[in-house]
Amino acid sequence: MAGLVTRFAPSPTGPLHLGHAFSALLGFDMAQAAGGRFLLRIEDIDQTRSRPAWEAQIYDDLRWLGINWESPVMRQSDRMPAYQAALDDLWARGLLYPCSCTRRDIEQALSAPQEGVSPAHGPDGPVYPGTCRHRPTGPRPRDAVLRLNMAAALQICGDTCFTESASDLAGTITTSAQAYQTGIGDIVLARREMGTSYHLSVVIDDAAQGISHVMRGADLFEATRIHILLQRLLGLPQPVYHHHRLIRDDSGKRLAKRDDARALAKYRAEGATPANIRQMVGLQKAGM
Ligand code: GLU
Repeated sequence: MAGLVTRFAPSPTGPLHLGHAFSALLGFDMAQAAGGRFLLRIEDIDQTRSRPAWEAQIYDDLRWLGINWESPVMRQSDRMPAYQAALDDLWARGLLYPCSCTRRDIEQALSAPQEGVSPAHGPDGPVYPGTCRHRPTGPRPRDAVLRLNMAAALQICGDTCFTESASDLAGTITTSAQAYQTGIGDIVLARREMGTSYHLSVVIDDAAQGISHVMRGADLFEATRIHILLQRLLGLPQPVYHHHRLIRDDSGKRLAKRDDARALAKYRAEGATPANIRQMVGLQKAGM
């Protein structure tokens, strides 16, 4: 499949660990096997947590693993105009509204007695109770939290589906309008200090980079449902998704960036080889 384009999209907010190595190697190997392309994207919209030193370490670790990628590397902090244009478009179509709720306001609204119904949790936390929801008019406020009006979005999208290529899940994954309404709700598409959000940026950039296959951890499976909806709303092409198993620590816990003990840099310092890393994540048998 020569037209295959995949990517690795880390955030430079901490060291890469074994889970990242697994994701990057799977994507790179897939592109190599298909004679396709492998791209890198630095997801640095959270400027309060992104650091140039982490970015430099990402390049160094990936090179050490034997991965190479095309230049120039896309950096999300350079992509604000594209995100703003998409927000303008959604705003003009009445699909966004500003929200001034704090986390506490949301918790309080959700804790109001509701006949024993416990509030649903979506990929980004509790499903928003809709306190600020209205159809605003006039220009889009800057530096505001903007939420997607899910009910209005579903009038355009309805049920969605995508193709999953991971062998244990392979097939067509459908999300019903009802599941979007009750399990995801009015998600935030622009955060105050960022001017965008992970969900919005990732779909715009996957489309801009012509990504045909997205390789990501199973922890992002629910986020993918949001991405499919945004692609429909914004008229963007839909890649094939491959949600890979998560690399867990010895106690079965998922590795997170803060688990520096699992950082690739640590294994490197201890003398591990790239082949050892491939073995650790189950991509190569020991002794090869
Ligand atoms: N930057 C995100 C991460 O590091 C995104 C990955 C993705 O969207 O596939 O988890």
